[in-house]
Amino acid sequence: MNFYLDYQSSKPVDQRVIDAMLPYQHDTFGNPSSLHAVGDDATEVLEASRGAIGAFIGAEKDEIIFTSGATESNNLALIGYSFRNRDKGNHVVIAEIEHISIHNIAKYLEKNGFVISKVPVDQFGVVKIEKLAERITDKTILVSVGYANNEIGTVQNISQIGALCREKNIAFHTDAVAAEGLLSIDTNKDNIDLMTLSSNDIYGPKGLGALYVRKGIRINPLIIGGGQERGLRSGTENIPAIAGMKKAAEIIQNEMPEETKRFQQYRDKIINEVLSKVPRCYLNGHPTKRLPNNAHFRFDGVEGESLLLSFKEKKIAVSTGSACSSKTLEPSHTLIALGLLHEEAHGSLEITLGRFNQEADVDALLAVLPEIVKRLRRLSPLYKEEV
Ligand code: PMP
Repeated sequence: MNFYLDYQSSKPVDQRVIDAMLPYQHDTFGNPSSLHAVGDDATEVLEASRGAIGAFIGAEKDEIIFTSGATESNNLALIGYSFRNRDKGNHVVIAEIEHISIHNIAKYLEKNGFVISKVPVDQFGVVKIEKLAERITDKTILVSVGYANNEIGTVQNISQIGALCREKNIAFHTDAVAAEGLLSIDTNKDNIDLMTLSSNDIYGPKGLGALYVRKGIRINPLIIGGGQERGLRSGTENIPAIAGMKKAAEIIQNEMPEETKRFQQYRDKIINEVLSKVPRCYLNGHPTKRLPNNAHFRFDGVEGESLLLSFKEKKIAVSTGSACSSKTLEPSHTLIALGLLHEEAHGSLEITLGRFNQEADVDALLAVLPEIVKRLRRLSPLYKEEV
């Protein structure tokens, strides 16, 4: 039996979503660009899906553009907005703890004549709003700050950042992938202009994402072709996946309050037990402003990779950081931005809960964690020196 506690890396598609997708693989297979009735059936689910996703974030259906996933949505938001609006300025602000895709897009913008500023965070990973305000100049056109961090789970003061951007007449993009389905998001309340969403992060199919584009916000397309998605993302729409994301959005809207309450109970049980049973262990991220499904620790004298392998032997799947950059030996840029030393950043463990977890998963983890840490510390010359 496997115990899966790494929902931030990947989620299983909900069976109800699979059931909702199946008719669009064979029976209702039309192309929404076709004008006949078979095409109309595809158009119907395409537009209904925009509606369901819009309803879930306080947006209108015409403000939703389908993409191939979060990475593409981030590219479309940052590159599409910056190139379209470069006559207004060439300065873009991001936070130091953004997802690797945002950092690499920022590098690309830099190579293309844009100036990038990175705003620091405090020791808990909260973006320093006063530093953000200081970075803004009359050349700033766009600010991008993730809604919540995908590694340490810290939730940002999004409405404050949105209000600041609105006051300064700067567009505000947020990558909401880590927060979607876990926090209620309202693009109007928070003055969000562009928002990245991913289908799999709400238990929908992989290979599909969305970008919310507020009415009146102008962006350039990155993919040119037949003019689908209001000309902003050409290519025949992936209707089965879009039907799946519709179902996933409807389910999450109904079940989020109950589901997140359960995650929070499990999360708090994990945090309380680990901090009380394991000496010299610390919680990364914010003690309260954190995602309900995220527990992230560091352990003195223990290396994250060895932790992960020890859990693997016990058939428990956990993570040491973002799966998107886990194959590099570099410590997580997010943990370094908190002010941690390299060796501290390497001794981290990320646990993320999800829809199909039961208390037995939590208990399986807690039953072995203290012993695993103790054993690894016995093997660590570094730890022995310190005690
Ligand atoms: N943004 C965030 C916050 C993420 O966690 C991820 C990875 N799940 C991405 C963007 C990129 O997602 P994808 O690899 O599915 O395009």
